[in-house]
Amino acid sequence: MSGAISPAEGAARAEMARLCRSLFERGFSVGTAGNVSVRLEDGILMSPTNVRLGDLIPERISKLDFEGRHVAGDKPTKETFLHQAFYDTRPEAGAVVHLHSTWATALSCLADTDPEDCVPPLTPYVVMRVGTVKLLPYTRPGDPATGTLIRALQGRYAAVLLANHGPVVSGRTLFSAVAAAEELEETARLLVALRGHPTRLLTEAQVADLKATFGTI
Ligand code: ZN
Repeated sequence: MSGAISPAEGAARAEMARLCRSLFERGFSVGTAGNVSVRLEDGILMSPTNVRLGDLIPERISKLDFEGRHVAGDKPTKETFLHQAFYDTRPEAGAVVHLHSTWATALSCLADTDPEDCVPPLTPYVVMRVGTVKLLPYTRPGDPATGTLIRALQGRYAAVLLANHGPVVSGRTLFSAVAAAEELEETARLLVALRGHPTRLLTEAQVADLKATFGTI
C-alpha cells in the first residue's frame, strides 16, 4: 500500500512525531485525544486513530490522498474531516492541529463565550498567531457535520473552537500551527483566570496596527 517515502515526506513525518510528542509531554493532549496533520505535495499526513500523540512512530503515521482515501500507514484518526475542511478552504494551510487542551476547551464550554470572537485580543501574540476565533456549535464526535460547519466559514478563520470539545488550529507550517495552538491555549487560560476582573483588551486601533505591521493570519 505504501510506496517509497521521499526525503521531504520522511522529514515531515519525523517533525510531526517530534512536535506531537512535545505537545503530549507538556499536557496539551492527554490519553489519545487530539490529532494533527500536515499537507504534502501529494497528500496529507494524519495522526493515526487510538494512538497517543506522544507515541507517534514516523513511518506509521497515516497518509491520505487529497480525496481522503487512506493510502499508507496506520488507520487515520476518525476526525480527518476537520483537517480536510481546513485544507479545502484555506489554500495557505500547511498543517492543522486539533486538541482537547484544558483551557481552550473550558472556554468552549462557558455559556457566555462570544461565538463570533471567542478569544478576544488580550495580548498581541494571540492576534498575530491565531487571529479571530469562531465558536462552532456542538456536534457529536465523529459527526461529519463538523466539517460542513468549517467549510461554511470559507476559510475566513485560521482557528475555530468546537463547542464543548476543543480547538482546531491551522498554520502555514506544522511549527506555526503548533505555536498557534499553544498561544490559543495560554490565552484561553488567561481569559478564564481574568473572569470577574475588569479587563483591558487591546483596542481596535492596536489590533489594526498589529495587522498592518505583521500581516493577517
Ligand atoms: Zn476531538
